[in-house]
Amino acid sequence: MPAHGFEAEVPLALTDEVRAKTDHLYDRVANLIPRLEWDLHAPTIARINDLKVEKNAVILAHNYMTPDIFYAVGDFRGDSLQLAKEAAATDAQVIVQAGVHFMAETSKILSPEKTVLIPSMEAGCSLASSITGADVRLLKQRYPGVPVVTYVNTTADVKAETDICCTSSNAVQVVEHICAEWGTDQVILIPDQYLARNVAAMTDKKVITWAGACEVHERFTAEDIREIRAGNPGVVVLAHPECPPEVLAEADFAGSTSAMSGYVKTEQPKNVVLITECSMSDNVALENPGVEFVRPCNLCPHMKRITLENILHALETMTHEVHVDPVIAEKARLAVQRMVDLPLSGPATNFRPHADRDVIAIEHR
Ligand code: SF4
Repeated sequence: MPAHGFEAEVPLALTDEVRAKTDHLYDRVANLIPRLEWDLHAPTIARINDLKVEKNAVILAHNYMTPDIFYAVGDFRGDSLQLAKEAAATDAQVIVQAGVHFMAETSKILSPEKTVLIPSMEAGCSLASSITGADVRLLKQRYPGVPVVTYVNTTADVKAETDICCTSSNAVQVVEHICAEWGTDQVILIPDQYLARNVAAMTDKKVITWAGACEVHERFTAEDIREIRAGNPGVVVLAHPECPPEVLAEADFAGSTSAMSGYVKTEQPKNVVLITECSMSDNVALENPGVEFVRPCNLCPHMKRITLENILHALETMTHEVHVDPVIAEKARLAVQRMVDLPLSGPATNFRPHADRDVIAIEHR
């Protein structure tokens, strides 16, 4: 039994056939993964790609997946919402979520007729686990008549209690839209207190939030950014809005993973640092060979539970299937769909906060 605990159903060996099936994929990651290391992965990659065809399956690979997963077996790549939309649009009957559990739930919510698999049931998220549907019901009692906007990084039962969902790309626009629709200047934006504070600083709406945080992004500090700049003169700093506002204040640009990726592609800075999860820099770097990346980053332990080996195991055994109660799924789908249907236009938000604006309350259990 190999160290990772999974025994493949067919023997895996680096044969000429495997090389023929995988050499073109190696070209995508050759700047990052040594050939010797690739040769260890190639048999698993070839077997996964064969199984996708046999089982009419696709793999949705989040931006935080390691490059071997992202570029060699991922059929669709992007942030959680892009992936869920791809899940709904694909003709494939089986979806393997190379990401965390709430993402698999969102795929199931948008594609209830499809089989959605997550390779590790331990791939959770500190934001998603910070709040429950019961917590949202209590918040609504505390603030009657105030619309609830929920970040997509939440479980289905939280989404089901929500008026509309948002992502880090569209949170400011969603908040302003729902306040206009409800004729109010107050909004509940949960569960990420830092995203909420960063949104509050971009709008004149009164934002109430929840004491949740992404354990990866909340660890970055303003001092980290100043040290990076001191050690790398001229570096362009891009930060994710799940970071504390003090970090965003030190950055040149702040936006979602897709916005950061788009910035690098368009602007082609000479030297850049992405203040986010480590694999994001690797994946963006491979697509922008002319840009030099400074690489201090934080790993997401949940994302890193997804490996080539457990993706193979998921496809061989059709585990672990993700189920969402149909009543909850239908309510949650409405909240996601309302966001998807919004006529949001213009470029993704660059969070440039007004220092004098902040949330009016951070609630907790
Ligand atoms: S990076 Fe943060 S928000 Fe994303 S899955 Fe990990 S803990 Fe959750």
